Amino acid sequence: MKALQIPVVDLPKHTEDLRSEVRQFIKDEIASGSFEPRCDSWLSGFSAGFSRKLGEQGWIGMTWPKKYGGGERSSIERYIVTEELLSAGAPVAGHWIADRQSGPLFLKFGTEEQREFFLPKIAKGECFFSIGLSEPNAGSDLAALQTRAVKVDKGWILNGSKIWTSGAHNAHYMITLCRTSPMNPDNRHGGMSQLVVDLAAPGVTIRPIHLMTGEHHFNEVFMEDVFVPDDMVVGEIGNGWKQGMAELAYERSGPERFLSTYPLLNELTNSLLENGDTKGLNEVSRVISRLWTLRNMSLGIAQMLEDGIPSNIIASLVKDQGTKFEQEMAEIARLIVSVTPSTQSDSRLGRLMAQSILQSPGFTLRGGTTEILRGIVAKGVIQK
Ligand SMILES: Cc1cc2nc3c(=O)[nH]c(=O)nc-3n(C[C@H](O)[C@H](O)[C@H](O)COP(=O)(O)OP(=O)(O)OC[C@H]3O[C@@H](n4cnc5c(N)ncnc54)[C@H](O)[C@@H]3O)c2cc1C
Repeated sequence: MKALQIPVVDLPKHTEDLRSEVRQFIKDEIASGSFEPRCDSWLSGFSAGFSRKLGEQGWIGMTWPKKYGGGERSSIERYIVTEELLSAGAPVAGHWIADRQSGPLFLKFGTEEQREFFLPKIAKGECFFSIGLSEPNAGSDLAALQTRAVKVDKGWILNGSKIWTSGAHNAHYMITLCRTSPMNPDNRHGGMSQLVVDLAAPGVTIRPIHLMTGEHHFNEVFMEDVFVPDDMVVGEIGNGWKQGMAELAYERSGPERFLSTYPLLNELTNSLLENGDTKGLNEVSRVISRLWTLRNMSLGIAQMLEDGIPSNIIASLVKDQGTKFEQEMAEIARLIVSVTPSTQSDSRLGRLMAQSILQSPGFTLRGGTTEILRGIVAKGVIQK
């Protein structure tokens, strides 16, 4: 067995100023009634206005080159901003995917024209993306996808459908993984490409999938003879699988994989402190020590990404353990306090508990299921 190495990151002193700046911004926003902290805010908390405000602060595309509207700051600085926003339950869902992975995808594989066109708009918090991977018969086995694009003059004609597409109803574009050559059973991952689909283009239909609560966060996206111009192909035709896999370390290792229920932990701790509930606080201290370990692992991966060190296996481990943690948080809170969870509750604790219970089944599915992640980790540590 190979040991997994994760660097220990000591946060540089100057980052404390940035953290204070973000905290003050959030405090002012809450005081002005701009948002109420909620669980799972990176997927469920949409506010175009809030995304634009973060763009004005320079907190989207922070690590990107200045010539594309970025801030040329470090991954660790970006980490601090995202962890503050997530722990405050701020509505960041609008720009989340574009900032986390579509922008970096364009930087790595896109053309100069694509970078100049998309990145400044994303950094201003004005251009949102969604992820078009899953299909009705292709989830964990993504290589089974059937959406296909056929070459025509000056572009591609796309047909197929995607499912569980988070935020497509609020997004402007979807990075769509599709087949541009028929499946070859000896190389199932070949012949796929990534196309940028304009979600307002003729032939695109977005149909909501409502949660049990009636809330609407994800969708089905149907594409019928959608024309995608050649300049909207990302990277090389046929290289879509490899390019998509390169996004995964960004997708799986960030603080959103263990902080989705942090606003609940925060509210719960405050309530226990107020009531002097020592037994409850003992339980919570155990939770916090787990959280601290996850955070150190995730910070280590942010450093590895900055240094260009491959981290897909450790990122899978963080996602597996982190999502299990944030899922359990909902259950732990329910056992410690006798508050009835309800999205309509008068108490904030009751509302946060309800949000975490209702959202938590998806935590260990989205971005790769637990079983799939454990397979990746197991294969990664076996020494040949
Ligand atoms: C809240 C939420 C948001 C999402 N957002 C998006 C999005 O924006 N874009 C997008 O493209 N997708 C999105 N998804 C879809 C998500 O990526 C898929 O649900 C996930 O990949 C699993 O695919 P599936 O649902 O088809 O389940 P399946 O692949 O059918 O799996 C069903 C069960 O079988 C298990 N299983 C499958 N294969 C194996 C195996 N080889 N070994 C062991 N166990 C296995 C799985 O672990 C799972 O428990 C989202 C999902 C959720 C819940």
